[in-house]
Amino acid sequence: MNALSQPGGHSQLLRQIRSIMASEDLAQKRLDGLVESIARNLHAQVCSLYLRHSDNSMELWATHGLAASAVHVTRLEAGEGLVGEVVRTSRPLNLDDAPVHPAFSFHPETGEDPFHAFLGVPVLRGGRLLGVLAIQNRESRHYSDDDVEALQNVAMVLAEIVASGDLLSASELESVALRPSRTETLAGRRISDGLALGQAVLHDPARLRTALIAEDPETEKRRLQDAIKALRASVDALYQGKGNRLGGPSREVLEAYRMFANDQAWLDRLCEAAGSGLSAEAAVERVRGEHRARLLTARSPYLRERLHDLEDLANRLLRHLGAVDELADLPENAVLVARNIGPAELLELDRSRLKGLVLEEGSPTSHAAIVARALRLPVVGHLTGLLDRVSAGDTIFVDGQMGEVTLRPEPDAEMDMRARITERRLRRAAYARLRDKPARTLDGQRITLSMNAGLRVDLPQLDESGAEGIGLFRTEFQFLLAEHLPHQNEQVQLYRAVLDAAGDRPVVFRTLDLGGDKLLPYVAHEREGNPAMGWRAMRMALDRPGLLRYQLRALIEATGGGVLNIMFPLITTVDEFRAARALLDAEIRRMARFGHAVPAHVNAGAMIETPAIVWQLEELLREAAFISVGANDLMQYFFAADRENPKVAERYDILNPGALRMLGHIARLSRKTGRPASICGEIAGQCAEAAVLIALGFDALSVPPAAIGPVKRMVLALNRKDLARKLTRWMRQPQIPVRENLMAYARQKGLPL
Ligand code: PEP
Ligand code: MG
Repeated sequence: MNALSQPGGHSQLLRQIRSIMASEDLAQKRLDGLVESIARNLHAQVCSLYLRHSDNSMELWATHGLAASAVHVTRLEAGEGLVGEVVRTSRPLNLDDAPVHPAFSFHPETGEDPFHAFLGVPVLRGGRLLGVLAIQNRESRHYSDDDVEALQNVAMVLAEIVASGDLLSASELESVALRPSRTETLAGRRISDGLALGQAVLHDPARLRTALIAEDPETEKRRLQDAIKALRASVDALYQGKGNRLGGPSREVLEAYRMFANDQAWLDRLCEAAGSGLSAEAAVERVRGEHRARLLTARSPYLRERLHDLEDLANRLLRHLGAVDELADLPENAVLVARNIGPAELLELDRSRLKGLVLEEGSPTSHAAIVARALRLPVVGHLTGLLDRVSAGDTIFVDGQMGEVTLRPEPDAEMDMRARITERRLRRAAYARLRDKPARTLDGQRITLSMNAGLRVDLPQLDESGAEGIGLFRTEFQFLLAEHLPHQNEQVQLYRAVLDAAGDRPVVFRTLDLGGDKLLPYVAHEREGNPAMGWRAMRMALDRPGLLRYQLRALIEATGGGVLNIMFPLITTVDEFRAARALLDAEIRRMARFGHAVPAHVNAGAMIETPAIVWQLEELLREAAFISVGANDLMQYFFAADRENPKVAERYDILNPGALRMLGHIARLSRKTGRPASICGEIAGQCAEAAVLIALGFDALSVPPAAIGPVKRMVLALNRKDLARKLTRWMRQPQIPVRENLMAYARQKGLPL
């Protein structure tokens, strides 16, 4: 029976390691002591530590039992030998007869040929492999599960010590792959515009600050079991819809969560690790590290998704154990590095310190992206391998314009980046000077520039941007970000806050546009094959009007005796508009019956988002007070190109003559009938597209707040009639794209597009 088979054997080894590491000796001496102590405790003739270099070669860093002269001399190529095999799989390798293994490689300088038994375990930290710890014995033997467990625990402790930086010199830290030091540029996807330069803060919310080694394994096991119980209860509560900060997972995600929280194998691994001498926190970290390393090498998106769930659970567990939440105390100029983040969590961060966000995953249409844009926080997503390449404290440049991220920029590059940030700031200051100037074209056409909004955090932008009102208030955001269905009262409060902030500037409330990709986390949904063309917006609202009715009441109440501007999304037939309007009228009558103040005036409009309604406009405009073109949807249906699918979303140019003819038709009918038409899709906020829309006859644009300045500057330099004439000509010349003609025209006329 070896020492480790006895109760407390593991703890004893861990305690020895702690005292070796705490000694005043030089780093190398401490490492030599460490491998010696492991060898002695595990009855091994050899114990060696290999650390990984950034080129993935493995250097022998300390050994007991192999030739001391091989230390810092033996280097295994990437993937070479049994050590390479441990690196490749990120799992322990336990062999009775190492030399017969196909991966075995022989280095005469180490004098290792007589050794048969081999046990190697990865030294992992946060899923990153720092090195390999191996023991060997001359005789052929199979190391017990206890031995494997003990070596893994030591590796875990070692990883934390190595990562803490006090074991290696600065130059050594640079040379091993612990801290990538090269500058690197990663290409991702633009999620939120803007530039930021700052220090990386890892999202991994609960980091280890506690002792790694248990004073008393039984206490640690109990602490862990209590935390697991609390975790299970909180996940159950979440599943049953009681409030939580998850940030909108769907029921399916919650189901997977629940399954993991109750997964016996996961729990057994945790308890085993805690019982073997690690503190409860270190046990969670170790099991997390193993899963992460394993799943990171998995190709299947399903498995990688599960990794996210498991990590999240591990973080929650650490919180239940009382770990510190570093995000509560961000450094100045923080750039948050995360796999993904929920919208509610983003809103809780200190915006004055948070300068940017970079995500390994993330999508431009996610709720977090919506919040980030409202906060004007630069965000880049889809950065493959990001978490593997960044260390806390690294300098990061976030380029939300290009969708790129530069890690650890060289000093010269950093200077360029600072210059770009300053230039952008100056440009914004120039826009701010235009704030109170009316937008009027050179030939005297007044253009109304309003802003799109959807959250309370958008409201200060009304004054800052100089918007003339809110042309589109997306009411569903409140529902999407909430943890439960917002009460009527909560809706009233939000609408009142919006109206108060707007003062006498008009606000157009768009009724709930749910369904499609906007699913409520707390409502069960049937999965649709083609959600963009599915049961969404007014289709849903008219089939099940309960939610819409409550919303209409809230809007009527918030408006009191004032003017209610309201529009209905995705109207496809005139009948749908009529039915929506009838619901609104019924609610007004009902409120009046109950003695509430009702709006003195109601403007009810329709969003033009389907080609079908474009060809019924004359009829619609007899009933709708105004129309607003939702070009995001209208163009997706016009081109049959999913706006969420990056492969096709930008495939077709909106300045295509077909699309322009349809838009021109809308503008003409609006003029003919005297019913106002505005345009509120993203294109209205892009200068080139906005110039063309104005030339087509639109004189009201509703755009993201940050676009008001640039669009106004363009309007002030635009001759509408002149461009309209040219545009008619360009549209008849299919051989030259309209955009190309437009750009040449803009250069010639000095039009800032
Ligand atoms: C649109 O479709 O253009 C629009 C403004 O609505 P949303 O982007 O919210 O679908
Ligand atoms: Mg839309």
